[in-house]
Amino acid sequence: QLQIGCGRKRPVKAPTGTELHCKGWLQEAALRMLLNNLDPENGENPDELIVYGGYGKAARNWPCFDALVRTLLGLENNQTMLVQSGKPVGVLTTHEHAPRVLIANSNLVGKWDNWEHFYELDKKGLMMYGQMTAGSWIYIGSQGILQGTYETFASLADRHYQGDLKGKIVVTAGLGGMGGAQPLSVTMNNGVAIIVEVDEKRIQRRLETAYLDTTAPDLDTAMKMARQAAADKKPLSIGLLGNAAEVLPAMLEKNFIPDVITDQTSAHDELNGYVPMGIPYEKALLMRKQDPEKYKELSLKSMATHCRAILKMQARGAVAFDYGNNLRGQALTRGVTNAMDYPGFTPAFIRPLFCEGEGPFRWAALSGDPADIEATDQALIEAFPYKTRMVRWLEMAAEKVTHMGLPARICWLGYGERDKAGKIFNDLVASGKVKAPLVIGRDHLDCGSVASPYRETEAMKDGSDAVADWALLNCMTSVASGSAWTSFHDGGGVGIGYAMHAGQVTVADGSKEAELRVTTVLRNDPATGIIRHADAGYEKAVETARARGIIIPGITD
Ligand code: NAD
Repeated sequence: QLQIGCGRKRPVKAPTGTELHCKGWLQEAALRMLLNNLDPENGENPDELIVYGGYGKAARNWPCFDALVRTLLGLENNQTMLVQSGKPVGVLTTHEHAPRVLIANSNLVGKWDNWEHFYELDKKGLMMYGQMTAGSWIYIGSQGILQGTYETFASLADRHYQGDLKGKIVVTAGLGGMGGAQPLSVTMNNGVAIIVEVDEKRIQRRLETAYLDTTAPDLDTAMKMARQAAADKKPLSIGLLGNAAEVLPAMLEKNFIPDVITDQTSAHDELNGYVPMGIPYEKALLMRKQDPEKYKELSLKSMATHCRAILKMQARGAVAFDYGNNLRGQALTRGVTNAMDYPGFTPAFIRPLFCEGEGPFRWAALSGDPADIEATDQALIEAFPYKTRMVRWLEMAAEKVTHMGLPARICWLGYGERDKAGKIFNDLVASGKVKAPLVIGRDHLDCGSVASPYRETEAMKDGSDAVADWALLNCMTSVASGSAWTSFHDGGGVGIGYAMHAGQVTVADGSKEAELRVTTVLRNDPATGIIRHADAGYEKAVETARARGIIIPGITD
């Protein structure tokens, strides 16, 4: 019997092992991943149902969470549960090959598609912000973003510093659910990082999980430590307690210009994410509740100051890029007219990978046994020995990444590789080398699944940045291909109204039927990314489509 309690806050943990609590592995996987998202080891603030990214939640409220669990426990193998913004709203009879769960989170009609309207509905209990993998139940802690961040810094190093950050200093802010991956991904690329964070607890947490090496008591010490490590060509990450909107201008005053400057505070959300400068942290948290309007105004003003400091560092030689949190967009609303002078990380470093259908491929072991993840790591290293960046990542991850909740792994794979990996995983389960089924999913930040003009689809070649049809087509593709659950969200990463995106999850349980579902989803999902980029005029995507036999009418025929 699964002990989950009812109608009260409680620590939540996914069951592990090979015993089913639901009527099939697809439902069981959805149940375990929902619970895993709220495991205190994994989620940022489970008491409030918050998983990561400011206000990104797994369920709308605790009664809805209980209803989700109850429904999943009773769901038949020919039924599909509908979830509207974190609340189960219906169970339909479908068929065995249909998804078991369909999720729509925080979507609003264009004219009303903004935080103000969202919060009105949220207050009435009618909506939930699902971020990307929070409301779609495939969050795997900081490791998920660690790998993406590792790829980004590796691509930056390729572009600017002959493939290595050795001797280079990166300054950034935010050690939250996603931002917490920054220090380790800089040091994995051999660089030095100073990370400014306003909440002492976040710094402590990253120290405990070994994502962060050390802290400095003040800015002068942090600068001195960073300069020394860079001179010694030693990787080092330093956490600094402070507000980025204050610390960055102070760095400029002291003529400290890092090699790379970026930011991962929750700037996409001026109320529940970003912390304004000039007030002690605890007082700011009080103001957030007592005077939200004043808080938001101070927050946006601070973002303008923060963004201006980044622009000044860029003007003085730093490589500056926006790390997908909409700091530039927010600063623009407060008069920083040149906010967009530094690029987003996608056009700068990630788009060429998208043109080959590369993106974040992730999986979790439902057995709860880290040995199952070791078996998958090994199988991928054997299957793709030519992917040297991936092999380096998998070897370092096995050594340095602490599992948070269910053991999990992520790596970037391209078109043709993801379905191959899916079959390998299904075979591992079938042969008993992996003890229980594997859940395979991805971030919504992928080549074909997202429309986000300030992030993944910024500065598209044909100007189609804001066209959300592509994300919808991707969503429908995974349903048509046989996902276990599919989701469609608004506002992940950059905030309500700024992005629309889809997620898919499949389950490799070792059966022939799972093999068909897993390989079909994993082939077609990245194909939509290649199609999207080929349609926008990217030659590399056209070449990939031609080489891999992806049919694009008018382009490949
Ligand atoms: P989070 O809310 O868990 O963490 C944000 C952190 O920033 C918190 O620890 C907070 O204390 C700190 N902070 C807030 N204001 C600050 C300030 N003025 N100075 C210093 N620290 C401050 O959020 P997260 O999950 O880490 O995500 C961070 C941002 O990155 C979000 O906007 C998110 O949408 C975005 N994001 C980007 C990507 C990407 O692809 N690059 C992926 C996911 C999330």
